[in-house]
Amino acid sequence: MNERCPVCGVKFERGPGYFTGAMYFSYALGIPLITVGVLIGKLWLVPTWPLHWIVLAVWFAFLPLVPAVFRYSRVLFIHFDRYFDPEGAGDEPIPSPRTGVSPAPPDKASPQAPAEPIGGRPPG
Ligand SMILES: [Zn+2]
Repeated sequence: MNERCPVCGVKFERGPGYFTGAMYFSYALGIPLITVGVLIGKLWLVPTWPLHWIVLAVWFAFLPLVPAVFRYSRVLFIHFDRYFDPEGAGDEPIPSPRTGVSPAPPDKASPQAPAEPIGGRPPG
C-alpha cells in the first residue's frame, strides 16, 4: 500500500494502528458474503451436507476474496474516517521532492492572533 495518494498526496495511515478500524469494515464485507454463500449451499447446492461442512467449504471459497476485502475495507475506513475527521493527526504536508523538507502547515506557518472577544477585551 502506498504511504500517500499518488494524485493528491493524502497520507493514508494517519497514525500507528490507524487501520485497526478497518477490521469493522472487513467484518461488514466478509460476513454477509459468507452468510450468502452458506445459504446458497444449504438451500440450493448441497442441501444434504451438514451445515458445518458447508460453512467450511464456503470459508475456503472465500479465501481468494480476502485480498479484495482487505483493500476495500481500508478504502471504506479511510472514507469513513475522513468524513468524520477531515483534518486529523498525520496530515502534515507532502515533503518537497527537491529539498526533502516538509513545509509547515498553513495554520502553523502564519499564526494568527487569538480572536478578539465581542465587546473588546476585559480590562486587566
Ligand atoms: Zn488522493
